[in-house]
Amino acid sequence: MAKVSIIGAGDVGATIAYTLQLAGLVTEIVLVDLDQKRAKGHAMDMSHGLFFTPPVRISAGEYGDCEGSELIIITAGARQRPGESRRELTARNAKICREIATLIRPHIGKAKLLVITNPVDVMTYVILRESGLPPGRVFGSGTLLDSARFRYELSQRCEVDPRSVHAYVVGEHGESEVFLWSRVNIGGVPLETFCEGCPKKCLSEERPRIEEAVRRSAYHIIEAKGYTNFGVSLAVLRIAEAVLRGEGSVLTVSALMQGEYGVEDLCLSAPCVVGGGGIERIVEMPLSEEEKEALLRSAQIIRSSLESTFS
Ligand code: NAD
Repeated sequence: MAKVSIIGAGDVGATIAYTLQLAGLVTEIVLVDLDQKRAKGHAMDMSHGLFFTPPVRISAGEYGDCEGSELIIITAGARQRPGESRRELTARNAKICREIATLIRPHIGKAKLLVITNPVDVMTYVILRESGLPPGRVFGSGTLLDSARFRYELSQRCEVDPRSVHAYVVGEHGESEVFLWSRVNIGGVPLETFCEGCPKKCLSEERPRIEEAVRRSAYHIIEAKGYTNFGVSLAVLRIAEAVLRGEGSVLTVSALMQGEYGVEDLCLSAPCVVGGGGIERIVEMPLSEEEKEALLRSAQIIRSSLESTFS
């Protein structure tokens, strides 16, 4: 059982902490935030629930208190404003992420760094470079949540459990993300074959609707309640399980590409084997020509955002 630190105890950081508390996956959670009062309030509130949950020590602390963590989760930053694209957040959050990487560096030890702050692909790269850690130890939640949303939307149309749907979104966690329709299967049956046995025959009209629903879901949720927190926290729990239990799970997370999929020196999401060492392998999935081109276009969008951040 392990210690996890969370930098940024806003709506996302606090919900991640609460999700980890309920899951009984860790022995200690440290919350670090510029707003120490807020972090202390969350730690106290969650600690009062310890009569009802598995035991875990929850505290608010400083960067030095992160020492000994297996996983450090970075959610600090400005959040997306209604109507604001993820890319517009870049300059604001890159500055915050640079500062955090500098402050956390002396206390990282053996920890892996998991980045959530948006735009997550750019922030993962910023923290990777500023921390000086090897690529496998710094990664972002990337399109894991988008892949979950894709599975959910398919499950609703196909009337099956989302856990029986295997579907991946890769590339940017943002507008240019790529839906790997050629790889979708339900219980091992390719989607088109699954659809042949269904009277609805809705695939061609539902495809664009599904993509739109997934692509726009963060905007719809933010429009409705101001922020997103539950889905992303469950995605983070899944990544934390893979790392802390050394599961070797294949998850679409944002990792440094070093030639995989024809992409060099930037972070984007692809299926990765996630285990005790962090990113243990980037899996190169066979893609259709259309998907390959869309992935390269998505990489180009991340690259131009990175270039403006580093210029
Ligand atoms: P929030 O405003 O509620 O919380 C952000 C917290 O960061 C605040 O408590 C703030 O005090 C803290 N903070 C700011 N600068 C800091 C610094 N330098 N050091 C320490 N703490 C600092 O925002 P939120 O809703 O929790 O969202 C946090 C981030 O997560 C945003 O960038 C958001 O876009 C992102 N997010 C990502 C995903 C994803 O799938 N990757 C999903 C949801 C939200």
